[in-house]
Amino acid sequence: MKPDTRPVFRNMINRIIKGEANALLCWHLNRLYRNQKEYGELAHLLETGVIQCIKTPEREYHPEDHGLLMAIEASMASQYVRDLRRDVNRGVREKAEKGWYPYKPKAGYSVAEFTKELAPDPVRFPLLRRALDLVLTGTWSVEETRIELNGWGYKSPRNSTGDGKPMTRSGMYRFLHDRFYTGVFQFADEWLVGKHDPMLTRQEFEKIQRILAKPDQIRAQAHKFPFTGLIRCGTCGCLVTAEIHTNSYKTTGHSRSYTYYHCTGRKGCPKNSIAADELEAQILTKLEGCRLDPRFVEWALGELKADRANEETVANLISETQGDSLRAVKVKLDSLWEMRHAGEVTHQEFIGRKALYMGQIEALEDEAHLIATKAERDRQTAIRALTFGRDAYDKFTRGGIEEKRQVAFEFGYAYVLTLPTLQIASHPIIDKFRTFECKDHSSQQIGPGDPHIISSDWRAMLDDIRTVASGSEMSFPIDRRASSFPGNTNICKPSTG
Ligand SMILES: [Zn+2]
Repeated sequence: MKPDTRPVFRNMINRIIKGEANALLCWHLNRLYRNQKEYGELAHLLETGVIQCIKTPEREYHPEDHGLLMAIEASMASQYVRDLRRDVNRGVREKAEKGWYPYKPKAGYSVAEFTKELAPDPVRFPLLRRALDLVLTGTWSVEETRIELNGWGYKSPRNSTGDGKPMTRSGMYRFLHDRFYTGVFQFADEWLVGKHDPMLTRQEFEKIQRILAKPDQIRAQAHKFPFTGLIRCGTCGCLVTAEIHTNSYKTTGHSRSYTYYHCTGRKGCPKNSIAADELEAQILTKLEGCRLDPRFVEWALGELKADRANEETVANLISETQGDSLRAVKVKLDSLWEMRHAGEVTHQEFIGRKALYMGQIEALEDEAHLIATKAERDRQTAIRALTFGRDAYDKFTRGGIEEKRQVAFEFGYAYVLTLPTLQIASHPIIDKFRTFECKDHSSQQIGPGDPHIISSDWRAMLDDIRTVASGSEMSFPIDRRASSFPGNTNICKPSTG
């Protein structure tokens, strides 16, 4: 209804004034004007004969026609728009007051064809609910859940802009934080109770908010079992869960509890189980194989510290060369400004060349940054891995559930249980530790003063670690949210634990 908001109308008028046309065909006059200003313009063109004729299916308007008739129709046209908008708003309000979410349906819902009421989408609603179940376990990160959800074939509905799309990261967060799914909705800054089927209870919603408030991966919640959510079944790819069996002995009146791990069996796997002790023993054996001599670690950490000074000089040297190229481009950019100022280059040329130089500067800066930080990142990876090799075994054997769980998370980024064997995929550095021969270094004396007696083995080991660290793209510990699990394509739901 506001004047000057219709560029196509503007363009049409301009072309008529230029003489490109002298008549209009339209369905109804109310399609032609939306306000008095537009009407006035057209009426004027018609009266002065620039427009010779406006033709609608009902009638024709000519310059000699009585102006009043059109004026009345024009005011009807803007009244029509006012009414239309009021009706739409009233419809929305009425719908909301009746308890129906009045806007475009949210993910998982659709508008029922006959009643026009919001109903669960038969395909998407159950999939989203299953995703909520995963998040509610507290062992699935948002990103893992999202990948799983899309793996089940979740896609948004087709719309005018194209085919349905898989769930996006931001869409997933919006979904998990949206109170709408508990059966309420927001209208005009108010929360109203909706008539749509809720997807989860308010308690579940609050629990999810609490889970999401904590960092992903190892959440500070109490775990009943150290390895749930970590291991996958080698047969079907489902998560492995744990449960407790209690045996009572009638003769003595005592009872004893045993913990077992088994596949959730969602894909029909027989739920053959392995005793928790046995599973733990397997992890421990592998951990032991990667254990490092504390004295070696101490020496190696010292060496790595010394690396840092060297690397800084190297990085400085490199960035000096980078700096030269960078300065050269910046000089070019400066003179370009001056040339533009003096009118020596056209605006077009200026824009093009400026974009080129800016791109070069960005690329050079990125490169310099990568070189400067790569060495430091590799060093940190080596330091953390060495510390892990020194401490993990003790932490695992002496610690409680949370410590065990944390060590296990850092130790492997994928655990696959194919009964009775547990396979563990570790960071390449940890794998490297396994190859070091366990020699007894106890006869060696080390001190800062006599570096000659450091065994050549140690040097070779540290060189290996440096090589793997700089060759591997992954930092240690591996961010599990970024890596995918083997056999991650199957549908399954871990039990709470
Ligand atoms: Zn299985």
